[in-house]
Amino acid sequence: MTDDLLSLSTDEFIAGIDAVASKFDSAAYPQQYLPAEDWALLVRAGVLLPTLPSRYGGRDSHVEMCRVAETAAEWNLALGVYVIVNTALALLPVVKWAGEEAKEEMLPRFGSGEPLMAGLAATEPGAGSALSAMTTTFEEVDGGYRIRGRKHWQALSSSAHWWLVVAKHARRREYGYFIVKREEGFRTVQLYEAVGLKLLDYGVNDVDVVVPRHRRIDAEQKGMTSVDLFLASRSLLAAAGAGFLRRISREAHAYADGRQIGRKQQSKIGFVRYRLADIDASAVICQALNHYLRTELDIKGDMTAAFPAVQALKTVATERIVRAAQSYQQLTGGEGYRCGSPSNIAGQAFLDSRVFTIFDGNNDMLSQQLTAYCLTRRNGRPLSEFLADWPLTAPGVATLKTDLTFLDRPLDQTHQVLAGRAIGYLFAVTQVLKWAEETGAGPGRLWPAVEFLRHDIAGVAAEFRLMASGILDTEGEPVGAGRR
Ligand SMILES: Cc1cc2nc3c(=O)[nH]c(=O)nc-3n(C[C@H](O)[C@H](O)[C@H](O)COP(=O)(O)OP(=O)(O)OC[C@H]3O[C@@H](n4cnc5c(N)ncnc54)[C@H](O)[C@@H]3O)c2cc1C
Repeated sequence: MTDDLLSLSTDEFIAGIDAVASKFDSAAYPQQYLPAEDWALLVRAGVLLPTLPSRYGGRDSHVEMCRVAETAAEWNLALGVYVIVNTALALLPVVKWAGEEAKEEMLPRFGSGEPLMAGLAATEPGAGSALSAMTTTFEEVDGGYRIRGRKHWQALSSSAHWWLVVAKHARRREYGYFIVKREEGFRTVQLYEAVGLKLLDYGVNDVDVVVPRHRRIDAEQKGMTSVDLFLASRSLLAAAGAGFLRRISREAHAYADGRQIGRKQQSKIGFVRYRLADIDASAVICQALNHYLRTELDIKGDMTAAFPAVQALKTVATERIVRAAQSYQQLTGGEGYRCGSPSNIAGQAFLDSRVFTIFDGNNDMLSQQLTAYCLTRRNGRPLSEFLADWPLTAPGVATLKTDLTFLDRPLDQTHQVLAGRAIGYLFAVTQVLKWAEETGAGPGRLWPAVEFLRHDIAGVAAEFRLMASGILDTEGEPVGAGRR
């Protein structure tokens, strides 16, 4: 069945995905778990194929993985997440790091067009941002490994057939990554009702399985860590953001052009134009980050060196996704607060997008990690000097010519999070400039995006000043009380 899909050019292949994804348009598609037969439509259109190597019937393509996520998210953001979970989060680690025997057992089935699903189980009720607190354990037993514990919030909790489960050794400080079939002992004991992304099922999952030895991914030998595990799906959020924000920008303009407020067209109101410009800037920034993802990264290859770029890309893209969805909802007024409004998808866009700054590594933590990365590489130089030299930010620093010396002070945890945001914005300016140069995008798209990002950096500088006012040093006293 999928043989026909293998001979298509990339554009033809993506056109086929687009045609099927259009049936999932968030303006009309029900807000409920995606039925298995609808997933089958997408699998038959080939959504899994770019992830799979050709010897398992796949198309093996980084660019197509990005384009599939972008296309799906433009029609329905939750569908984009659905695809990313199955491909980059769950299947790709198996493709990249599992042994031959495990691959042979699992991948041909995914390549055959069977509508199978896969998920990743890392998060636990007591271990989310800090996975080191994980209590799911593994131990060696006759013929394999026994894994026991409780996971939660897994996308596709009750529906995925195959799982990649992360566990800690029962006695040693060592992580293990195991391929598990649901029927071996992956039980969903509670379903959560999420506020958005309702196409996916989430819940609490108890794991008690014995798996054969070959189903353990030999992480150390393959040079994989629990950070690597998330880099591909994290980067694909820029692709999803590019598709989603293209649509939000288009729909926000159409709504504002069609709405009369008093005797004025809404889109002629000054502040409405400013909001629309902000949404457009978000769309451009995500497009540029997606361009970087497609042209500079290779999620199918070794991503280790891309760690700082991925942290920056994820935090800036997802912040823009949330911000633009909120602005769009503001513009649509009461109509944007209705479920199933015939005039807009703003309510859904807002609910579906909200979690993007939380999952796949919460943005605050990723920002802190980005600063920590830079601090350990600056060789004693002030951070602003390092950023002026660092290839990921230097062009942005040179173009903005903005004062970054506010970063040159001892950075405690709070300041590291804030500084990480500024570094992310500088990375984004750099990528917007590069995108414009390489695609010929005009100044009308380039410069507003750069200016919005300049303003974001100024906002971080203002937050540094706010911290200097002592707001965190009040030890429980109301702010302002007795401080004059
Ligand atoms: C819709 C959805 C889908 C998900 N899909 C999956 C999945 O498929 N598989 C899976 O295993 N997990 C999944 N998760 C879990 C998700 O990855 C975690 O929710 C996320 O890692 C955050 O962990 P937590 O919820 O325990 O929050 P916590 O760790 O309790 O963090 C809460 C907040 O504390 C703050 N915080 C934490 N650390 C820092 C820091 N260093 N600096 C500053 N602030 C900080 C942040 O504001 C953060 O948002 C999903 C979650 C959701 C909501």
